[in-house]
Amino acid sequence: MTIVSYGRDADIGVITIDNPPVNAIGPALARELAAALDAFQADGDAVALVVECAGSTFVAGGDIAAFGSPDFTAGPFNATLQRLSDMDRPAVAALFGTVLGGGLELAMACHGRVAAPGTRFGMPEVTLGLIPGSLGTQNLPRLAGLKTAARMISDGKPIGAEAALEAGIIDALADDPGQGARTLARKLAGSPPRRTQDLPVPDRDQAGDVLAGLKAAADAAPWLATPRAIHDTMLAAVTMPYDAGVELEQARFAKLVASPQSRAMRHLFFAEREARKIPGLGRETASRDVSRVGVIGAGTMGAGIATAFLNAGFAVTVTDATQAGLDRGLSIIQGNLASAVKRGRMTEAQAAKTLDRLTLGLDLSAVGDCDMVIEAVFEDMALKLDIAAQLGAICRPGAIIATNTSTLDVDRIAAATARPGDVIGTHFFSPAHIMRLLEVVRGAETAPDTLQTVMGLARKIGKTAVVSGVCYGFIGNRMAEVYMRESEALQMEGASPSQIDGVVQSTEYLGMAMGPNRMLDMAGVDVGARTVVEWIAGGEGPTDPGYRAMCRALYERGDHGQKTGEGYYRYENRQPVPSEKTAALAEEMAAKHGVTRRDAIPDQEILERLLFPMVNEAAMILDEGIAYRPSDIDVVWTAGYGFPAWRGGPLFMADEIGLDRIVARMDHYAARDGDPHGYWTVSPLLRQLAEARASLTDWRRE
Ligand code: NAD
Repeated sequence: MTIVSYGRDADIGVITIDNPPVNAIGPALARELAAALDAFQADGDAVALVVECAGSTFVAGGDIAAFGSPDFTAGPFNATLQRLSDMDRPAVAALFGTVLGGGLELAMACHGRVAAPGTRFGMPEVTLGLIPGSLGTQNLPRLAGLKTAARMISDGKPIGAEAALEAGIIDALADDPGQGARTLARKLAGSPPRRTQDLPVPDRDQAGDVLAGLKAAADAAPWLATPRAIHDTMLAAVTMPYDAGVELEQARFAKLVASPQSRAMRHLFFAEREARKIPGLGRETASRDVSRVGVIGAGTMGAGIATAFLNAGFAVTVTDATQAGLDRGLSIIQGNLASAVKRGRMTEAQAAKTLDRLTLGLDLSAVGDCDMVIEAVFEDMALKLDIAAQLGAICRPGAIIATNTSTLDVDRIAAATARPGDVIGTHFFSPAHIMRLLEVVRGAETAPDTLQTVMGLARKIGKTAVVSGVCYGFIGNRMAEVYMRESEALQMEGASPSQIDGVVQSTEYLGMAMGPNRMLDMAGVDVGARTVVEWIAGGEGPTDPGYRAMCRALYERGDHGQKTGEGYYRYENRQPVPSEKTAALAEEMAAKHGVTRRDAIPDQEILERLLFPMVNEAAMILDEGIAYRPSDIDVVWTAGYGFPAWRGGPLFMADEIGLDRIVARMDHYAARDGDPHGYWTVSPLLRQLAEARASLTDWRRE
């Protein structure tokens, strides 16, 4: 199939790219573009060239999958762009849709650009750990100025057509960009084409400030390769001849594209798309209409969930058991909206209108007319079962009943409603209106249209949804449980909370946004401990008396973290400082549970003991069919738990470390410390993959 063709429209040569769905550039397109350019150059009767696209958009970027090929090179495409730029007859790009990355680079290699109103322009490479690699770092500053170029390349966010016109990225707007481009091409015909590369960078005399900002960003995250490459290529744009700048860009791009960081981020890009695919669900699966959402429980989560739906335009009814609870919830929602206004995300008037869609009630029956009701009361099974039974009777037929439980058995809650097909878990993360992840818990009897509806709603409220099966803690908290178990075991053995958090937060080892102890102190030690206590009391939790003994002891003595001023750390002006009390507690718990103390625990051991059992748990989660695929687990951890995107998630990182090494270290700890509770027992799947030297990320269920 031809994807790039050359033809003539009167005196204008026309190259048409037709590579559905988004005209992405891959090796074939690069090859055919070169041939189409040959055809134009051989056509002496055309006075100028127009480059346009069929379909719904101009070239929306490069084919990201092609970057992963071992023989990938931007060379041939770049040579064609240079040839286009060097022509003696002018070329004009006709732009519409989303002109991103390689698409914008193609447009900039032309001598003029005309765009339809509503066209979006951007350089999203940074989100994949890359910089533009097809002359873009040198051409964009020459068209738009260094300041605008640096911002677009650094934040990856697209700008609109008006902004692009003002910045000088395009020459004109036209409702019919194809005609507009032909008109401009005729106007330019006859004079020597104006190459972008020959333009001076317009704001060159203010380059110092821009470069200082880029350098500060690179210095603030020295472990990331992209900010440094952005700084260096922007510096080149104002200090080096064009060819030398391009050479630097090429070298940096080639290095980045092969780097583990960019491979990790590309893995997540595909992982997030893959997560939307759900076995047994297709386009034909029906969806239910949802416009009014009910939230039961106006606490931390309920108020955040209500904010998320209000912000997306839904009508929301919130109920709570007490007036005090309702008042607190309302003030959280008002605070969330006020902070959105402060950040410029909405106007005062919009915030007022958003709040108008909120209804409050003290009686559960207030949600009777809602299309979906999300329960977010205390994490207490008896309470949740009671509420579920009431909701089963109160909610209108066809309404979806969701629970925000973080650990409890969604199937039991579903059974209590007596309409389990309508029931699903929607596990939001705190703060619920900000955190991107939504774990969607598919119960044994959840109806396909219930699941389909919730996946659609997740997108509407801007969440990245990952489906999990039913088990204690689902995907994320089940893995977090072993991570926190080891954190506390290490404290009893002699590591301090700050050493542990330091290792976890250090980019040399891992680079999580926050270590487990700071996280628990922030979320509330009571919240974490109560869940563990319930789990154990329910008879399905661990039987080891020393299991998460620190958390349970801190809870019992009332040290609930930041909110009480004392937890794993002591808080001075909200800043964590080492707590002598907690250090003494660790010794006491070690004595009580027969744990041998050591003088020093190596950082490497801390990393291995926190990360490797988590990878092992993930292998079990896969084996049991709780997660559909490995990449879903990486999305859960990067979108919901602060796992660094540049590591690609715990499973991508495990593959980078080597499964054989992980298994060997698990075996080592089992042999060294004994394994009375099975914490170091390697999952058969993990061992089998390690022995086969296979990848965990690539594993698929037969
Ligand atoms: P919270 O204590 O802040 O809020 C619970 C609210 O439920 C309170 O306002 C309470 O008055 C209300 N409530 C209690 N009984 C009620 C009843 N019978 N009818 C109506 N309202 C009632 O708790 P939270 O942190 O918001 O957690 C709520 C749920 O979300 C729990 O299941 C929890 O496990 C889950 N969750 C919490 C987090 C988190 O970080 N806090 C994260 C994910 C999921």
